Amino acid sequence: MNISHIEHIGIAVKSLEESIPYYEKILGLQCYNIEEVADQKVKTAFFKVGQTKIELLEPTSPESTIAKFIENRGEGIHHLAFAVDDTAATLHELNDKGVRLIDKEPRGGAEHLQIGFAHPKATGSVLTEFCCPEKAE
Ligand code: ZN
Repeated sequence: MNISHIEHIGIAVKSLEESIPYYEKILGLQCYNIEEVADQKVKTAFFKVGQTKIELLEPTSPESTIAKFIENRGEGIHHLAFAVDDTAATLHELNDKGVRLIDKEPRGGAEHLQIGFAHPKATGSVLTEFCCPEKAE
């Protein structure tokens, strides 16, 4: 596994519209992408902070894991995403090391990333994502 940096920090919010002004008007960051990930039932908004991003996640359905997270724990930091050179290889390596995973194989995420999550029970309760850019077909 080769982690190069923190790719993004995922933050669960009830409403992008209500949350974006804090990042833009107070912190002076700029939202450069809003993207719906139908598969995960979320709408995402991205800000760059150096080479790390902030990813705001708004649920688009009560069935979304983000909706359930907010219901149980309120808005706030949801996950940490490490940039790796190869998501599939990283997930396989973790699996071989006996780390419990949510995703044994990568899936498509926002921002053209291949993503996979380890289970928070295996990561000190920090929901941890590993991601790399989608490979060109
Ligand atoms: Zn993420």
